[in-house]
Amino acid sequence: MNIALVAHDKKKEEMIHFSTAYKDILKKHTLFATGTTGTKIEKATDLQVEKFQSGPLGGDQQIGAKIAEEKMDLIIFLRDPLTAQPHEPDITALLRLCDVHQIPVVTNLAGAEIVIRALERGELDWRKIMKEKKD
Ligand code: PGA
Repeated sequence: MNIALVAHDKKKEEMIHFSTAYKDILKKHTLFATGTTGTKIEKATDLQVEKFQSGPLGGDQQIGAKIAEEKMDLIIFLRDPLTAQPHEPDITALLRLCDVHQIPVVTNLAGAEIVIRALERGELDWRKIMKEKKD
């Protein structure tokens, strides 16, 4: 599965803890991230992450493009709801595309914990079946 990991600045520590705690699950998948989030995950873990631009410089839009191409299977986006983001339109667009394309997306740690366990149990395997049908 292709998984995108994004964390706003005040949530980066949470993302590091999350990716450290669940690295054995995450390492079975192909990981993508916005620039700074990806760099921090790689420094804190032995996970390999394909990094896009930093979020404010277009990273969210790059993830959005992958979603539009049906190339993302899960988005874990730890949002900071208490700080204004300069790239709010990009964030809204990314979340909208998740809804357009039925891509599982969570925007906080509580949801991330649920979805990562669901992933491990194979509950997102319907994504593979859908892709096979389209090919
Ligand atoms: P970053 O981007 O990982 O480059 O900080 C995340 C964001 O703010 O969207």
